[in-house]
Amino acid sequence: MAFQTAPLETLIEQLERLPSIGHKSATRLAFHLLRASSEEANALVEAIVNAREQIRECTVCCNLADSEHCPVCAAEGRDRRTVCVVEEPQDVGAFERTREYHGLYHVLHGTISPMDGITPDKLRIRELLYRVANEDIAEVIMATNPTVEGEATAMYIAKLLAPFNIRVTRLAYGIPVGGDLEYADEITLRRSLEGRSDLT
Ligand SMILES: [Zn+2]
Repeated sequence: MAFQTAPLETLIEQLERLPSIGHKSATRLAFHLLRASSEEANALVEAIVNAREQIRECTVCCNLADSEHCPVCAAEGRDRRTVCVVEEPQDVGAFERTREYHGLYHVLHGTISPMDGITPDKLRIRELLYRVANEDIAEVIMATNPTVEGEATAMYIAKLLAPFNIRVTRLAYGIPVGGDLEYADEITLRRSLEGRSDLT
């Protein structure tokens, strides 16, 4: 039986749907928002609405962007012949923090996982093939996570890239198997990058 007002119940329910937020945290957040000034609460609502409306995918690399090109593709002086393929936009940030990588990226937005209904056509693989076919790319670094899905996705894409006769490499294992690139420290990630090996 509900013992809180319906709007509060709804707010808690919505917050609980966010990743890593349990019922307790959702309740705490809901009460915090109720106590906050209306400016503060409105700023949060506005930030969510703006992010949803303004953020789209970069037309080159599928990274998140607020205009046609993401900040990396728009930047001067990057090595446009090297493309690092990552699973999620957050992984771009992880590589950028190493300051060791100066090429471009390609964001897949997931990994192949037939059990979860994620087939290759749901990822930005077609966009990657288009780039390799139409741009002057010398090397593609497969930087998907060292998980079963990440490995399978890297191998799948490497096969598709084989006819293009370019260098296809995979990150070396400084990164723990089953780990998540987003949380890898900079040294580990840098070593992985330096020790990358040819896939084809
Ligand atoms: Zn981009």
